[in-house]
Amino acid sequence: MTIEVDGKVKASGLAIMGGTFDPVHNGHLRTAVEILDRFRFSGLTLIPCFQPVHKSRPSLLPRQRLEMVKLAVSGDARLSVDSREMDREGPSYTVDTLRDIRAEIGPDQPLVMVLGMDSFLSLPMWLRWQELIRYAHLLVVSRPGWEPDFVSELSTFCENYRAKSSHELQCAPSGRIWFETLTPLAISSSMIRALAYKNESIAYLLPEPVQAYIEQHQLYR
Ligand code: ATP
Ligand code: MG
Repeated sequence: MTIEVDGKVKASGLAIMGGTFDPVHNGHLRTAVEILDRFRFSGLTLIPCFQPVHKSRPSLLPRQRLEMVKLAVSGDARLSVDSREMDREGPSYTVDTLRDIRAEIGPDQPLVMVLGMDSFLSLPMWLRWQELIRYAHLLVVSRPGWEPDFVSELSTFCENYRAKSSHELQCAPSGRIWFETLTPLAISSSMIRALAYKNESIAYLLPEPVQAYIEQHQLYR
């Protein structure tokens, strides 16, 4: 999909969402489709990490998390999976991923990294976090009415890069932060793991093929 800016046709951009996806769930997927419905991105790509940097090591094999993300996106042509962090192995630094994607798509196309407010709050702990904005925009999704206080370095970062309108995400390739409030779905991967561990139902929290995969392989027991 393309839009016109100052008479020039510009691509409207690619959205990506990184995560551990241990497992992927309807909170992730609902966020993805709401973003796609509100913005004119050409698609949204989920990028499961190989080894999370700020979380304990997932109990599953990386390939099992990847497999579940593939099952989850198979029902919507606008969603896809990028396995580059799996292929790269080692700790999954987002700055490496964004730099690589930027090199592939060239300098002009908007690249938008979607992340939850909880992840955004931890940004100052990420490797070379101030560089992320050189490669992509940050689209932070939060629940209505939740305006947390940022630590000072994050608040300065926001002052420097906060967009005045969401339209800016589609007019520049990178360099803006936008906060979008979405319908909150109070689902987390840790909640699903805890339910499965207690042998309670995880139905309706995640896509049926992902639930079937977990049951078939007896995961999170
Ligand atoms: P955990 O419970 O282990 O922390 P999680 O459910 O937060 O897992 P992640 O894979 O860590 O899942 O999250 C990937 C991205 O999705 C993060 O940016 C996170 O903020 C966001 N996210 C997670 N759950 C939701 C949700 N219910 N609604 C919107 N965004 C979410
Ligand atoms: Mg989380």
